[in-house]
Amino acid sequence: MSDENLINYNYTIYTGVSGHSYFYIHLYQRILLLSNHYGKKFMESHFKNLLRYKDDKLSDILNSLLTKAKYYANIPNIDYLLTKHVNRPSLINGLAGLLYVRFLVFTHFNQFAKRNDCLIKLIKMHEYIAEKKKDSDQSPNEILYGKAGYLMCLLFIHDYYERPKVTLCRIIETNFLGSVFLYGLGHTSRRMKPDFPIHHNFIHSFGEIPKSHAPSSSNHNPKLTIDANVKDSLINAIHKISVIILKEGKRYSRQNDHQCPLMYEWHDKEYIGAAHGVSGILYALTSIKSNTDTVIPLNILPEKYILLIKHSISYLSSLQFDSGNFPSSLPVGSDKLVQWCHGAPGVIYTFLKAAEVFPEKEAIFLSVSLKCGECIWEKGLLAKSYGLCHGVSGNAYAFLALYNFTGDSLHLNRALKFGKWFEDYGRHGCRTPDTPYSLFEGLAGPLNFLIDIICPKSAKLPLYQIGI
Ligand SMILES: [Zn+2]
Repeated sequence: MSDENLINYNYTIYTGVSGHSYFYIHLYQRILLLSNHYGKKFMESHFKNLLRYKDDKLSDILNSLLTKAKYYANIPNIDYLLTKHVNRPSLINGLAGLLYVRFLVFTHFNQFAKRNDCLIKLIKMHEYIAEKKKDSDQSPNEILYGKAGYLMCLLFIHDYYERPKVTLCRIIETNFLGSVFLYGLGHTSRRMKPDFPIHHNFIHSFGEIPKSHAPSSSNHNPKLTIDANVKDSLINAIHKISVIILKEGKRYSRQNDHQCPLMYEWHDKEYIGAAHGVSGILYALTSIKSNTDTVIPLNILPEKYILLIKHSISYLSSLQFDSGNFPSSLPVGSDKLVQWCHGAPGVIYTFLKAAEVFPEKEAIFLSVSLKCGECIWEKGLLAKSYGLCHGVSGNAYAFLALYNFTGDSLHLNRALKFGKWFEDYGRHGCRTPDTPYSLFEGLAGPLNFLIDIICPKSAKLPLYQIGI
């Protein structure tokens, strides 16, 4: 692929190839987990027919998933891209996402030198961001394109190193969902591949799949080590970027005499939602505070900033509509959008995280979250999309978050009900997205949800919800 074509190539997690790569890594990890629970034979008998693989051995299926993951993560000239697109640093819709997915792929292939190269490139991006901080057009703060999105990527890397050894999650018997999941999987594996023009030759640069990934292995976590100097750089970058974001929010709030001590604008608007607004930025900042009991402690923000974050989240709670929803921007307008990017299904994560890290406010923040859940239950079965960003699967993840926080099976049942909606995939009058198989707008989103609901205790909204 020429450099010119590469510039216009959709490498993102949001609607591009990195999202596909992430999906296959996630699927690989989940199937490995399930096969250890149900047994190899059981999994093989199901996958043989439904996935229509030529080889029906589980190890072949797993290898094929990892091969797909590396196929989609393989962008030939990353360094060129880094020079051209470094002003798009976010995880979900920017360069950090591509580097993060390659980091995961190289980890699974035990290619540690390449993995570390990704890590160093990722961390180095913070220098450019620090340089551009005064130009808000080139360096927005929000999650989808901006600095908070980059900060999320650094936090995911941190979480990856800190994650305890994966243990077998509790399996919920969900017969109808299991069959929908397997049906969808077959559907996807047959149809996703032809859309992406990366040449197969590039795959070989990743090397062969290591034997340690055979399903009989109990090793779910590839070797995780981090050099001391890289670790320091990671912590330093997290600190630098979060302080820049905090200072910019404080400055904007003061200049505009805003009630919220941290406020941001994006395209001349004060957005509230997770993708473009203050709730997403506060979620990223609060996630730093939540990582205090780890080997690499992240409790690195001065108390004055922690208070600003807490007061800003309290201010946000005053914006909640009686329905439980949130406005998409200020000044408060109509109560309309109920989707991850705008409204309660995205804002809920900020309040659940805040309930965890500010125990003195837990009752209030949890009550806001529960009201979000009621709103999503009433209005969240959208007819316009099945996707993660502004569709039913994104909304359904909010119930799993509530279930994992409260342990109340009501929320799990609601998630299952929303999952049942996908049994009639394509028959609810939804518009076909421009990227029909993508992770955040297309089919890969609902499939990711159906994979996760089989193991709801460890389910998380992909590449947004962070933590153990
Ligand atoms: Zn959206």
